[in-house]
Amino acid sequence: SGHLGILGGGQLAQMLALAAIPLGVRVTVLEPDPLAPARLCAEHLQAPYTDPSGLDALAGCDAVTLEFENVPVEALAALQGRVPLRPGAGLLARSKHRVREKEALRAAGARTAPFVAIESEADLVGALEGVGGAGILKTSELGYDGRGQARVGTPAELATAWASMGGVPCVLEGLVPFERELSLGVARSPSGQVAFGPLVENVHRGGILRTSVYPPDVPGGTEEEAREIARAVAGAWGLEGLMTLEFFQLPGGPDPDTRLLVNEVAPRVHNSGHLTQDGGGLSQFGAQVRAVLGLPLADWRPLHPCAMVNVVGVARSDGQPQEPDWAGIDVLEGTRVHLYHKAWRPGRKLGHVNLVAPDLDTLRRRLTTLEALIP
Ligand code: ATP
Ligand code: MG
Ligand code: MG
Repeated sequence: SGHLGILGGGQLAQMLALAAIPLGVRVTVLEPDPLAPARLCAEHLQAPYTDPSGLDALAGCDAVTLEFENVPVEALAALQGRVPLRPGAGLLARSKHRVREKEALRAAGARTAPFVAIESEADLVGALEGVGGAGILKTSELGYDGRGQARVGTPAELATAWASMGGVPCVLEGLVPFERELSLGVARSPSGQVAFGPLVENVHRGGILRTSVYPPDVPGGTEEEAREIARAVAGAWGLEGLMTLEFFQLPGGPDPDTRLLVNEVAPRVHNSGHLTQDGGGLSQFGAQVRAVLGLPLADWRPLHPCAMVNVVGVARSDGQPQEPDWAGIDVLEGTRVHLYHKAWRPGRKLGHVNLVAPDLDTLRRRLTTLEALIP
């Protein structure tokens, strides 16, 4: 029971609404795009995020959450003090800016890649040496799916990359020689109850998440380390609601207790958590709804080995969509198709396929079959 407001009406809002309905929760989204995915399963206030009457309607909800971090600060300010915003504005301000985020992670005791803020020509001098000689330049704000990023190996490449980004504020990160990428969700209710999602292993292709797998193939103690870091950051940042940490796992070193660096934090459910929809346990979407509305929490861990494969718009050589056979994939053993009702565009996330299996060997085998069917 309750009424949840969501800033943004994309696929994450769609899936939050689908998880809220069986809990008896009504969902209203504020979203300017008339064709946004959540239009089909939530009340859709079709208006700009700063629209006064749209914000008034959200202020009448029991709590407001969000599905993307770049909501205009004016919208957040307009809701301030009228309705609980979870996560709150302070946490959002940290997580949407890569430099502030890394500083706040370090202040909470988490490790990150070495980094240098690049805000003027003078910051370029000595920056590469400062991060170990090779790095990735990222815009401090608005980047996702690897957009607004460039790998750089020389000072000249760094200068060119920064200029090509228009000289906007950036961060130069040292290139991390990670063994694998992992992620973990953490939820915290307004009363302070904390719960965790599964530790998931992620494989990216062209800067976009391609596959997530649970359980991850990691050394003993890794999940405990990830939870400790997530608990510390959630506490230090005063989390109310749900956030997801992306980690780089370093190759085994002298100290096996500190293998994880935090790459970035999403103040919400995460693409890598979609497999919790079909793993047999609670889902990340239900967890965010519960945490934001102050309902009782529990860890949301799949009961079976499971995986997720993203479906991204791919063009054939003639430029036409190369669509997978949705209906055929959906009836394979162990698969579930989730489509976002978005118009096709190259590079755009259009849906995902979850996969579940009774054991890891079967999961691996089914995953190989499934990946071959998705361009
Ligand atoms: P997302 O869609 O996850 O929000 P994003 O655009 O915010 O992506 P990042 O997560 O920062 O980008 O980077 C995308 C991917 O690029 C990472 O998952 C990782 O594979 C690689 N990457 C990013 N930073 C580094 C780094 N410092 N060292 C090595 N690889 C990196
Ligand atoms: Mg990101
Ligand atoms: Mg990322």
